[in-house]
Amino acid sequence: MDSAFWDGLAAGYQWQLSLYTALGIMAVSLAGKLLVRLVPAFREASRLNRETYRQKMENPRYAANQRWNRKWGLFFWVVIFAGVLPFCLTAAPQPVWRVLLDCFVILMVYDFFYYLVHRFLFHDAGFLGGPLIWVHAVHHRQHNPCREDSSYIHPLEVAMGLGLYVACIFVLSRFMGDFHVVTIVITWTAFSQINLHNHDLWTVDRFPFKYLNTMSVMHHNHHARFTGGNFATISLLYDWMFGTLDYGAGYKGAEYKPKAKKVPEGAGAA
Ligand SMILES: [Zn+2]
Ligand SMILES: [Zn+2]
Repeated sequence: MDSAFWDGLAAGYQWQLSLYTALGIMAVSLAGKLLVRLVPAFREASRLNRETYRQKMENPRYAANQRWNRKWGLFFWVVIFAGVLPFCLTAAPQPVWRVLLDCFVILMVYDFFYYLVHRFLFHDAGFLGGPLIWVHAVHHRQHNPCREDSSYIHPLEVAMGLGLYVACIFVLSRFMGDFHVVTIVITWTAFSQINLHNHDLWTVDRFPFKYLNTMSVMHHNHHARFTGGNFATISLLYDWMFGTLDYGAGYKGAEYKPKAKKVPEGAGAA
């Protein structure tokens, strides 16, 4: 192995910056929570999703899965913030355009690979035959998810999703240079809020909430049937590019057939 590479890596271990990033993410999430309470549409969605979640938690099996994930979630955070991010961070000033460009690149590169994993490993939508369907099937037990169902999931899938996300950050930082703490705070917050929102039960379909409505409806289409489309999570770009957009009737080559009506015997064949 190239020892210069490892020496360089060790010299770039910035645990303080990783700690600031974690604190920044918590602070932004908390501030965001308080801010959206000022908007009636968000307040209503929050009430609806919290009430639905409360009802679901009355089911012991459901509650057990959520607890299972909280436990593993903490472990993944420690691994990521102590073991990966310290190698990818800088606090050196950067122009705003650079921060915004980095955010865009990280999220879109992640979304591309997530699309592939979701479509070909978690679903049987291609030549691989869906080897990890058994993992992803846990998440798909929810046919009409609410916000908290973004974490109704097999911990192995969380590990893969988060692993893919931080792997993108790590590999991209080798090519693009260390990312600013602010970049990672923004992308992490966007990543988790988009994932949460896709599962939101959302009822408002008017300006300026139309995009939020579309994202929620499209992911609910994905949950409605295990053979549905809409595999990407951050945006609908890759589903549009690869022809897997699902407006509720499947996508080309995997259309939903309406349930065949039983024809009484002797009614004649057409
Ligand atoms: Zn799926
Ligand atoms: Zn989902």
